[in-house]
Amino acid sequence: MQFLFTLRSRGVTDRRTLEAMERIDRSAFVRGLFADRAWEDMPLPIACGQTISQPSVVGLMTQALDVQPRDKVLEVGTGSGYQAAILSLLARRVYTVDRYRRLVAEARATFEAMGLVNIVAATSDGSFGLPEQSPFDRILVTAAAEDPPPPLLAQLRVGGIMVLPVGQSDHVQSLIRVTRHETGYHYEELREVRFVPLVEGLGQD
Ligand code: SAH
Repeated sequence: MQFLFTLRSRGVTDRRTLEAMERIDRSAFVRGLFADRAWEDMPLPIACGQTISQPSVVGLMTQALDVQPRDKVLEVGTGSGYQAAILSLLARRVYTVDRYRRLVAEARATFEAMGLVNIVAATSDGSFGLPEQSPFDRILVTAAAEDPPPPLLAQLRVGGIMVLPVGQSDHVQSLIRVTRHETGYHYEELREVRFVPLVEGLGQD
């Protein structure tokens, strides 16, 4: 299928990631006008002025996260719910949070329609993480902060991995992978990316 071919040609080579992306219908997460462009490798607008990420970037982030079947995963930035749906096929449980109530409600409805029962979606400011469910084996942030938020670093289990874009909004950002060791954190820069900013507080909708 063309979609998978494009993903592979853009560096998404991990078998489990590709299988998950083959199973999750992206068009179910793109409502309205742009639904017929869901299979193109581009970001698309969703409600609340946000975007569903480009599939190849979703794939690269997912494979960099190296999710294991027993993992408890936190995603910050539910948006459409597409990324969370993919993670849910790879992990034991996925917690996903967004600052917009409306996006969380719509994503929940899509998860339910797809029978994805191991995702818990909540409205909250993800820069504080989800202390009551921590520690997490994996954390994925899909909005850009200037630096990794300290509460998220603290809520990562020793041996855990966090993938996130960092840098100033509207500038080029770097996708980084943070691995927590007994004695500290190891940082790797993966590539340049462009994400909407991580914003403090809850949204209006
Ligand atoms: N992962 C999404 C795309 C995310 S777009 C998908 O698969 O469709 C980034 C999202 O991060 C937006 O929905 C935005 O509302 C959310 N966001 C920004 N700042 C946030 C914060 N502090 N806490 C939680 N969500 C936040």
